[in-house]
Order: sequence, then structure tokens, then C-alpha cells
Amino acid sequence: MFVKIIASIGPASSAPETVERMARAGANAFRLNFAHGNPEQWKQFVEAVREAEKKVGKPIALIGDLRGPSVRLGTLENPVEAKKGEIIVMKLANEAKGGDEKVVPVPVPHFFEVVDVGDLIVMDDGRVRLRVVDKPSPDEIEVVAVTDARITSRKAVVIRGKDYELPAISDYDLKCIEFAIENDFDYISLSYVRRAEDLEILKSILHKKGRPDIGVIAKIETRSAVENLDSIMDVADVVMVARGDLGMIFSLEDIHYYQTLIVSKCISRGKPVIVATQLLESMIENPVPTRAEVVDISTAVEQGVDALMLTGETSIGKHPVEAVTWLKKVIDHTEARMGDKLEAIARAARCRHFDLGYRFVRGVIELAEDLEAKFITFSMKGNTPRMMASIRPKMKLFVASNNWKALRKISILWGVHPFYVEAQSYDEGLAKAFSEAKRLGYVNIGDIAVLTYGLREEKQYVEILKVAEA
Ligand code: PGA
Ligand code: MN
Repeated sequence: MFVKIIASIGPASSAPETVERMARAGANAFRLNFAHGNPEQWKQFVEAVREAEKKVGKPIALIGDLRGPSVRLGTLENPVEAKKGEIIVMKLANEAKGGDEKVVPVPVPHFFEVVDVGDLIVMDDGRVRLRVVDKPSPDEIEVVAVTDARITSRKAVVIRGKDYELPAISDYDLKCIEFAIENDFDYISLSYVRRAEDLEILKSILHKKGRPDIGVIAKIETRSAVENLDSIMDVADVVMVARGDLGMIFSLEDIHYYQTLIVSKCISRGKPVIVATQLLESMIENPVPTRAEVVDISTAVEQGVDALMLTGETSIGKHPVEAVTWLKKVIDHTEARMGDKLEAIARAARCRHFDLGYRFVRGVIELAEDLEAKFITFSMKGNTPRMMASIRPKMKLFVASNNWKALRKISILWGVHPFYVEAQSYDEGLAKAFSEAKRLGYVNIGDIAVLTYGLREEKQYVEILKVAEA
């Protein structure tokens, strides 16, 4: 009802019928990770999402995920397996044979500049942990396996506590941005953001290409990003707690602390926030989640996040549709019993300094809450609904727009139920939104309805009525 679902697409879920089933099961957005696959596959996937959107009849956001300033392994012909205590060599190369040779290629010279003896290297969501024991030459290190490890191609490589000083946007990322623009993506997310400037670079590229309407998501998964959170929030359209890499750069036992910190900052600053990764990790294999996983989801819902994002569960897992179904089920059941917690989130979301536009919006929302009214609004660009969602209203926001991009972008926001209407003006849009809301059963006879649109600081139009006829 309030919290939205984002599903990552991959080999396990790219078939059009799987995408459609995930959308019906509750997915509001899909993420394409540009670190994997090729443009041909991406293209098919984009078509599958747009097809599902038509069939299911709800706006769906497409998110393109950039690799950003990350270091990934080169290609291994065979996986390298090491027992705890065994020594492996990591060396500057694009590829290696692997297997018994126990040499792992890293194609990035900067990695060898940053890494020191004593550092902990982490890969594969923490399943691989290697301690650096020697640096015999400037482009080679020796590491010892901290636990039994299996290393495969192209995994992201994190040095615990350290960030890489690589360009925010690589040539490869530029090509992906081009693809996202050509295929009309709604958001681009940037991995390994370190500071606001990284996002400014991405934004200025989008501006130069005439596409400032594509939203920018900051994935918080480096140490610097946590330190620079405030300035990052000023620039990002949306913030993501990317727990996969966050759990490698920080100790696992600190993840709850960082998640809570980032989410609560975002809510009190009115910034949309997503929590991602390992929500239903065991469902990669199993059709049913663990107790701990469902409690983790409930915790995030109770923290007031806008959306939750599945990663491996839907991209490579055996049960992508069931994972979405379970996520939806846990979200719904948690929300139904939020009680005072919802009150507390709303209070936290409304305690910041409001400009006039925000105060208009808050007033209208609180009026509707007080009346226990159905809330219907019309928007052209999606800015006012974003403000509305950010203050965590107690009722659903039925948001109509004549702009598909706006509808898709707001589909990942807390409590927003977007739908399309054809309109040339705000008054026409609002009138059509009301009749469409009646037709869709969003409002019924006897309901009090608050109909509104907002023009920032200029004007807030509000109409309150009791629905007399359907
Ligand atoms: P990734 O992002 O799947 O692209 O790594 C999510 C995360 O790090 O949690
Ligand atoms: Mn990540």
C-alpha cells in the first residue's frame, strides 16, 4: 500500500512473461544492472518491461544501474578455489586461467596503488575475504584466504575501509548512459558514489544531452558516501542504501546502524530512500524466506522507506516471482499493523523547515487526514506528488498525470498510486483524475474526497466534496 517494490532483472527474470508476472505480483520498478549482459539483451528487457506496463496497466519505472568508480576482477577461465589459510596471487591482468594456478586477474592499476599489506579484500557480498600479506611488486599482491573461498570472474573488489579514486563515470558508463537515454529510462543509479560531485558529473551529462528529466539515484556503498551524506542528499533525486557493498566496506555488524542513519536522515530531509539487497537472499534457492528475512523487511517498512529493492533474488534466483510475492505480502502485513509507528514516521518527516510550497502541501495533506478523505491530485511534472509523499501521509495518494515519465518516476515513492489521464490544463487534469478515480474504484459513494493540485509557491488549489454519485 505504501512501500514500493523494485526488482533487479537478470538471466532468471528477463523473459517477458516473468517480467509481467513480477509486475502483477507487485513490482513497481525494474532495475537493469549495466555491469552484466550486453545491449542486445538490455534492449529485449526494456521491451519486456514496457510490454508488461501496458498489459498490467500501471506505470512502471525503469532504472539503469551504472558501474561507476568500481574495481572488478578480470576474466577467469576457471574459478579459483582456496581453503582457509591458502595463499593466492592477485595481479594486474585482464584475464587468467584460474583453477590450480591460483592467480586472480585485476585489470585496474589503481587497485594496486591503493592496496597495502594488512588490508582486507572483500568480494561477492562478503563471501570471499582475503588478507593482504605481501606486495612483492607494484602490480602484484599476495593474499591469504580468511575463510574458504571460491572466486569467479568480474566480481566487484572492495578494500575494507578504503575507496578508489577513479573517475566517477567511465567510458563504459558513458555508453550505458547513452543506452539509457535512447531507451527512455526513468532513473539512472550510480554505484560507488563518494561525494556530491560524482552525481553532479552524471547530472551535467544528462543536462548536456537534453535529458534532465531522467532521475539520479545515489547508491550509498562507500565510506566517503556515508561521510558526505548531507551534500550527496542535496544533489541526488533518490538515495539507495546499497547493503551489498555497504556490508563489505563496513563490518556486517554495523549495517543496521548505517541503514537506520541513512533512512532517518532521508526521511527528515524529504529525500526518497530505497533499501536494497539480501532482503530475501535465501529465496535465491528456496521458495520460502527465513524468519530473519521477513523480520528484516518489516524493520525497513517500519523505518518508513519509500521502496525495497530485490537484487540476486530476482536477477539470478530460482524463484523471482515468488520473491516479489513474498516481499509484497510482508510489506502489506507490516503496514496493516504500523499504528503508532506510522505516526512517528510522519512526525519525523514533517519536522524540518518548510518553504511555502511545502507548507501548502502539508496543510492539504493534514486536512485530508483529518477528514479521513480520499486524496486525489493531478500533476504534470511529478514535483508536488514527490513533496506529498515525502511527508508520509496516512492515506494513499492517487496521483494522475498527463506525463508518463512523471508517472513512472513517482511510482517508486511512498504511498503514490499513479495513473494516466489525457489533459491540457490542471483543471481539466483534476476533473479527469476524479472521474477516472471513481471508475477505477479508488473513491466510492459516500467518501469525502480532497481534490488538489499544487503550483509550487504560487497556488494550491483544493476542493473538498462528498462523493454523491459514482
Ligand atoms: P549492486 O547494488 O547489486 O549493483 O551491487 C546493490 C548493493 O550493493 O546492495
Ligand atoms: Mn553495490
